[in-house]
Amino acid sequence: MEPQKMQSIKGLSLKESSFKSHLKFYSEILPVTLHNSYLVAESHFLKEELNLVELDFKDKKTLDFFSGNSYIESIIPYASVYSGHQFGQWAGQLGDGRAIFFGNIEVDNKEFEIQLKGTGSTPYSRMGDGRAVLRSSIREFLCSEAMHFLNIPTTRSLSIIGSDEPVYREKIETAAVVSRIAPSFIRFGHFEHWYYKQDEGQLKHLADFVLANYFPHLTSKEDRYYLLLNEIIQRTAELISKWQSVGFMHGVMNTDNMSILGLTIDYGPYGFMDDFNQNHICNHSDKGGRYSYKNQPYIGQWNCSALAQSFLPLIGDLDRLKELVHSYEPIYKSKWDELMHHKLGLENYYPEDQHLFKSLFSILQENHVDFTIFFRKLSEFSSKEEVTNNSIRDLFFNRLAFDDWSVQYKNRLEKEELSDEDRSLKMKQVNPKYILRNYLLQTAIEKAEQGDFSEVQKLLLIVSKPFDEQPEYEAYANFPPDWSKDISVSCSS
Ligand code: AMP
Ligand code: MG
Repeated sequence: MEPQKMQSIKGLSLKESSFKSHLKFYSEILPVTLHNSYLVAESHFLKEELNLVELDFKDKKTLDFFSGNSYIESIIPYASVYSGHQFGQWAGQLGDGRAIFFGNIEVDNKEFEIQLKGTGSTPYSRMGDGRAVLRSSIREFLCSEAMHFLNIPTTRSLSIIGSDEPVYREKIETAAVVSRIAPSFIRFGHFEHWYYKQDEGQLKHLADFVLANYFPHLTSKEDRYYLLLNEIIQRTAELISKWQSVGFMHGVMNTDNMSILGLTIDYGPYGFMDDFNQNHICNHSDKGGRYSYKNQPYIGQWNCSALAQSFLPLIGDLDRLKELVHSYEPIYKSKWDELMHHKLGLENYYPEDQHLFKSLFSILQENHVDFTIFFRKLSEFSSKEEVTNNSIRDLFFNRLAFDDWSVQYKNRLEKEELSDEDRSLKMKQVNPKYILRNYLLQTAIEKAEQGDFSEVQKLLLIVSKPFDEQPEYEAYANFPPDWSKDISVSCSS
């Protein structure tokens, strides 16, 4: 069935996307309709932020639009083309294989693109069916919102629409459509696309578009392409240090999944660290561990060097490009250092802090200590000499290892001015109590697959206040159950 043409949707004032008006990197494509669709969840947080409170998913027209069953007549949807490196190999042309753009909204003079994912195949779908399953749509929706509330730059998600339409993965699942919103979904891969096609004109056109729309403070600078790349590298390094600081692993850091705005994008087989293990691989399909926790910072730099290569025709000077790629490391380290200071409640910087952090990660690793629970409990650490901090100490098999570290930490805290109480308050603002663990997602997904969406809504509420005490949801901050170790997430979505 053809999608319907609509004149308007109540509460949604859409305009033509500036990407589409200015760039030629797309194909117009209509969505494939989704039968018997229904609302699974919506983010009322995002609705409020974007002044979309009048959007009512109970309204059939609204539901149809967010299901991909209709589009605004004057705004033909499109999918964009990009290329990229996947698992370290040049993969050639890719593109939006199952996500299409439906137009932009303007909020407080800022534009946001609205994209629906799972609306059927596009010219870039390759072997895929263009659909997304309910399972992966719930994972994308919840994590987009969770990351935002953890203060980590991310694309956002407004809704998940479910259906009874079968989709074939390892088993038969059902199709869903998730809406994603961001100022831009332009990826490193968009630049790589034109570089590998050796089309300098389009490459320049893209860079000028990105500058004018997202980096206007650089447009008048003579060195603007160099400064643009510099800023993208900076944002990427900072983003990844933020991921590391909450134990987030993306799972598929291919260059087509890297945002030029430094946003976390394309949530697939991601994961939050349970027991700390720097070698942890969250994506079951990543056999070699290229995207393991400890590798993420290096891969971030590797991806920046792939992007820098695409900037070569714009900047010309290979040595300057290399310099920029090298600048990633000190930016990453300095942000990581700052975040670690915050996590440990330290306001001053001393050279010996590096040893304190290093020895901490080594005992967390040796003792398989839960990453999130440790830092949250550490936020209640007593610096009094006689106090043994048993509730933290008991997280370690080797309690003496913790005792040794705790002496170092107490000595270090003597050089700080904050009281234990004040430090605790500050640490709790950066060490989340509630994160989106795989087992919580799994429980919500299994219920949703049975038609009960209450757990998805509940998780959204919980992750919207990750740093607060939420006594009614204490259980959601517990250790993961043993069965969670058997959950395997892969690229299949
Ligand atoms: P990902 O690793 O999920 O970012 O996907 C890599 C590429 O494959 C992107 O170009 C996606 O659009 C495309 N893709 C993934 N799954 C599908 C699918 N089911 N149908 C069509 N294209 C897909
Ligand atoms: Mg992708």
